[in-house]
Amino acid sequence: MKFVYFFGNGIAEGSGSMKDILGGKGAGLAEMVLANIPVPAGFTISAEVCDYYYKHNKTYPPSLKEEVEHNLKRLEEATGKKFGYKNNPLLVSVRSGAKISMPGMMDTILNLGLNDETVVGLANSTNNERFAFDSYRRFIQMFGDVACGIDKELFEDKIKEIKNKESVKFDHEISIDGLKWLVEEYKKIYSSQNKIFPQDVSEQLWVAIDAVFNSWMNKRAIDYRRINKIKEDELLGTAVSIVSMVFGNMGSDSGTGVAFTRDPSTGEKKRYGEFLINAQGEDVVAGIRNPYPLEHLKQISQQTYEELLNIFDILEKHYKDMQDVEFTVERKKLYMLQTRSAKRTAKAAVKVAKDMVNEGLITEEEALLRISTDQIDQLLHPFFDEKSKKQATLIAKGLGASPGAACGKIVFSAQKAEEIGSKEPVILVRHETSAEDVAGMAASVGILTAQGGRTSHAAVVARGMGKSAVVGCEAINIDYKNLQFSVNDVIVKEFDTISIDGSTGEVFLGEIKTVIPSGLDEDLAQILKWADKTSRLYVRANADTPQDAKTALEFGAKGIGLCRTEHMFFAPDRINIVRQMIVSKNTKERQQALDKLLPIQKEDFKALFRTMNGLEVTIRLIDPPLHEFLPQTKDAINEVAKNLNITPLELQETIKNLHEFNPMLGHRGCRLTITYPEIAIMQTKAIILAALELKEEGIDCIPEIMIPLVGIDEELKYLKNIIKQTADELIKEKNTTLHYLIGTMIEVPRACAVADKIAKEADFFSFGTNDLTQMTFGFSRDDAGKFLFDYLAKGILKEDPFKTIDTQGVGTFMKMAVEKGKPANENLRLGICGEHGGDPESIEFVNSIGLDYVSCSPYRVPVARLAAAHAAINNKTKENLD
Ligand code: PEP
Ligand code: MG
Repeated sequence: MKFVYFFGNGIAEGSGSMKDILGGKGAGLAEMVLANIPVPAGFTISAEVCDYYYKHNKTYPPSLKEEVEHNLKRLEEATGKKFGYKNNPLLVSVRSGAKISMPGMMDTILNLGLNDETVVGLANSTNNERFAFDSYRRFIQMFGDVACGIDKELFEDKIKEIKNKESVKFDHEISIDGLKWLVEEYKKIYSSQNKIFPQDVSEQLWVAIDAVFNSWMNKRAIDYRRINKIKEDELLGTAVSIVSMVFGNMGSDSGTGVAFTRDPSTGEKKRYGEFLINAQGEDVVAGIRNPYPLEHLKQISQQTYEELLNIFDILEKHYKDMQDVEFTVERKKLYMLQTRSAKRTAKAAVKVAKDMVNEGLITEEEALLRISTDQIDQLLHPFFDEKSKKQATLIAKGLGASPGAACGKIVFSAQKAEEIGSKEPVILVRHETSAEDVAGMAASVGILTAQGGRTSHAAVVARGMGKSAVVGCEAINIDYKNLQFSVNDVIVKEFDTISIDGSTGEVFLGEIKTVIPSGLDEDLAQILKWADKTSRLYVRANADTPQDAKTALEFGAKGIGLCRTEHMFFAPDRINIVRQMIVSKNTKERQQALDKLLPIQKEDFKALFRTMNGLEVTIRLIDPPLHEFLPQTKDAINEVAKNLNITPLELQETIKNLHEFNPMLGHRGCRLTITYPEIAIMQTKAIILAALELKEEGIDCIPEIMIPLVGIDEELKYLKNIIKQTADELIKEKNTTLHYLIGTMIEVPRACAVADKIAKEADFFSFGTNDLTQMTFGFSRDDAGKFLFDYLAKGILKEDPFKTIDTQGVGTFMKMAVEKGKPANENLRLGICGEHGGDPESIEFVNSIGLDYVSCSPYRVPVARLAAAHAAINNKTKENLD
């Protein structure tokens, strides 16, 4: 079995596709040789050896020694230098590198091969004694720290001592004699620690190789893999690359630098990098001296500079991606030490992907896969300035329910938020929110609640508004009476400033600077156009108002998948009429209230249809239990009773009558309109009349009327008859035609079981996965925050099922509904409008079970468009593999 792979002088035994065994670094070096790019010659010991090492009590495969020696000979031939020889000695670096980059976590040793003899040879062959002794003392120091476990500080103390003695400030100012003194003092440090610095270069090499393999299991590396969720069992370990040293510190015609082939923060096609003359790589990283811009390389040699730029082009063409490189110039000769795909901001990711398609480097599909949905999210919501965030005090963590960073003064009532929200940024802090708080939420920059999960009112409404929200933050104890909340010993009072991160759920004390994103600019718009072209699913939005609809359109929604009509009931000009309807004692009184609501609702729908200008709009009939429209506090009850011309006692009686032990399982959804068909009739009239009047204006729309919470086919049949009769009469009266659809939400598990029967009555199914998750698990969507934290922390659940569809349980019901529904009605349209409609993993799932569209909050539309494209591409790849 082969364990060692040589590269250099035009030969590469490995390649870029062998990251598994050569690590990112080893594979990158081999690939650069194949692309004719100058790299220092070397060889890589495969990560399979690391695997062997740990499985065989830290011993090596018997053939390894011979293979390393053989390759060392090849390296000597390639460089014309000899390892351990006094004349023109070969020095090497011994570098770690796993398949997945773990920057700075494992060990690397430079300048290996120096001893008391070779240092003199190096001084002679380079004609630079200072350089030789500086390299030697660096090597003894690094070897001591990395391979022998000697405390770094002991060496640093000696450096301080000599600098004091010589009255100099910087390391590079130490005299040659000073460096020689350091070498001797360093050796004494080894003795004082009962260690010996090996003069035998072969021993140096094997101790260094051991050290790199051992560093795979050091605490830093293990923690890094845990924190970054890197699965150990999918990795063999680290490879070890032994690379001939090239020196950027050989004088003023040498240097070293790092560079990006494009600007990593904007994505612009302009080289970006830093360069130090007469320095080694570690000087750049350590930030001891201020580096110059890349162009400074011209001072060494215009030709070398041009060669570097040319290599950037070759690398980009070769890797078809923006690269991040390290290079060294040794006496005007350029060597590339490393290349890898460059880390970049979200903005740069989008621009680079788009530009590379236009440059013919990658395909549109490749461009789409280069951008993550998280990056799109970052472009649409404010985020914290990293530096400022690092200095802030984290006081609590809840569920990140609506992405984006927000910073403002806290208030504890929606009313207060409305009062001051227009003058300065406020964050509304509540136990939970209800429909009454919507205006206050709109006036706030962020929402923080102590209770509730990802589909609670606060979460759903905040997402719809594109506002940052942290919900279910159990750690905060709110004291409404004293207008403050506490977390452990910290007390935060009304008007104190806090900052919240709706992506991570973090709550900080004080102000953190926020960065405003670039939004849907030209580049992103282009990428998303390609996404739409690639996707099978299309994206609609959940929007209740013309304003929401406008936002949704701007973000590229192809229609509205859910308009929650009850959200319209809370506006000041109609809430009293709604309440009148609820307190009515008989059908006649109720009808009077509904008659007043009809023209108002009709205007709402007209505005919505007009905004959507012929695109699909699904309007759901009333859904929440009626008590939600009634006041809760004593003062509010008194005021509302006065407005309704009844006594507070009468109103309290109605509230008592409407009380339910489990309102989420109670008199809501279609159950309400079965009891009060007149509400369904009024809403149908409003929808159909709106469409008919718009038709007269020349705007054609096809209204989709949706019935919530259906679990029995007879429920749908009953309501469908009423709706159809009402609609057809109106159309007939106008002596015209109008195409409209009647469909249902699928949000009760029973509906999935009898989906064939329901499908016969429905033009469409829209999965309400908020309720479907609630009812499948039996987890209250408003209270689950309390225990979901424990479920996630203890690994009982891997994901919050209100965020990502639980494919095993809820997903099985959904699949059942599709498989039963579609054969029963082949024209059945299938969509999803629960909050999962904007979650990339859930989108991947609904793509796989054959839904037609997803509907999500307007601000999530761009994320969903990209996720839909990713799902289609991944699905295609999977099918090809099958
Ligand atoms: C659902 O249950 O998934 C849904 C979209 O309806 P709501 O959130 O309004 O109950
Ligand atoms: Mg629902």
